[in-house]
Amino acid sequence: MAEETIFSKIIRKEIPTTLLYQDELVTAFRDINPRAKTHILIIPNKLIPTVNDVEADDELTMGRMFTVAKKLAKEEGIDENGYRLIVNCKAHGGQEVYHIHMHLVGGAPLGPMLMN
Ligand code: 5GP
Repeated sequence: MAEETIFSKIIRKEIPTTLLYQDELVTAFRDINPRAKTHILIIPNKLIPTVNDVEADDELTMGRMFTVAKKLAKEEGIDENGYRLIVNCKAHGGQEVYHIHMHLVGGAPLGPMLMN
């Protein structure tokens, strides 16, 4: 059984956060330490620690993360100019919180993808 992270408390609204969206599958909120003008996290309500733990049964939820990203990008006014979606996986990917999350970042040119 995977260990809960702070994100489970955010899903259950047990700690304050800027909640932007929630449905039966996913939750979205602003990153506490934004690295871009818009920096939103989109997470599954189900605790899936990393991409390595995604199962076929999770495909609907994974797809919902993308449709919610699209909706929020439009609401933030960054859909026309574009944005970046990032999912970090484990140590080499730079993952800090072991509850899968999609970063939605944008609001200005982000520059090239970093390889190091
Ligand atoms: P990772 O490095 O795991 O891909 O990203 C984790 C992200 O979660 C970081 O950008 C970090 O700022 C954000 N984060 C960590 N704890 C909290 C929290 O309690 N609330 C919010 N809103 N974001 C958090």
